[in-house]
Amino acid sequence: MAALAAAQEHHDRAPDDPFTLKPLSGSVYALYGRGGNVGFYVGPDAVVVVDSQFKDLAPGIVDKIKSVTDRPIKYLVNTHHHGDHVGGNEVFRHFAVIIGHDNVRTRMLASPAEILRDFPARVEAARKAGNEAQAKQLSEQIDSAKSVKVEEIPAPVLTFDSELRIHVGDETVQVWHTPPAHTDGDAVIYFEKANVLHMGDDFFNKVIPFIDVAHGGSVKGYLVALDKVIGRVPANVTIIPGHGEVTDVAGLKAFRQYIADVLDAARKAKAAGTSKDDFVKQVDIAAYKDYSGYADRFKSNAAAAWDESP
Ligand SMILES: [Zn+2]
Repeated sequence: MAALAAAQEHHDRAPDDPFTLKPLSGSVYALYGRGGNVGFYVGPDAVVVVDSQFKDLAPGIVDKIKSVTDRPIKYLVNTHHHGDHVGGNEVFRHFAVIIGHDNVRTRMLASPAEILRDFPARVEAARKAGNEAQAKQLSEQIDSAKSVKVEEIPAPVLTFDSELRIHVGDETVQVWHTPPAHTDGDAVIYFEKANVLHMGDDFFNKVIPFIDVAHGGSVKGYLVALDKVIGRVPANVTIIPGHGEVTDVAGLKAFRQYIADVLDAARKAKAAGTSKDDFVKQVDIAAYKDYSGYADRFKSNAAAAWDESP
């Protein structure tokens, strides 16, 4: 997979360059970096970008786009509110209209208050666990939450509740809100003519997902969202996941199977009278052990699935 990606790259990369640019069909590109995958479309008079990774990476994202076109970057669509997808908004806001689901804006604006509410206890816990570095990092976030002005947060300025379309040249960029899956503000972006779909974190390819239950995410919701998307796109669509490599519908269906398998394991355990603690301790699905993030996130996926099981 990695060798193929390298062969398809058409720009030389400096050793310290975190990016890999992958041309897809119809002037759509995938850009891998350190956060969530970026996608962009180069139209005759405007560039449409999906997600902005982190603030420190955003200038590099802009440079990569400028390496293939001198057309202006006019639109940035956020797939959801997480920092590894919207961190670069602060850079893009100066030249692009930022678009996202209503809840992306709401969540981003609520973030400082949430940090002030939740982080002091986390600093305490980190200190108790002897993790000074983490305590320091959390304290810094509390400090910046205290000083930030809500009206200066670079949240989407154009929001929608269900769908919208961006018309650039002969391309129609469809933006659909999906039922809550990763968060309650998820959007997927379909480049109709190019037949390329950017799924944000509704899709982790061969990567164990983070399911943000605290912000409206749901394991069962993932199945509903994925089925809706699968039912709406052509079978030969090219898919950019939020994390992992570009793939196709078969790759998406493998991820759907993962979600179904976790839910199934939880439902069976609950029906057999197993306690949540015991289930989470014992649960293991061999087929997904080679997915990245298995050690970090699989158990919390299983715990959420248990909570949502009948
Ligand atoms: Zn996310």
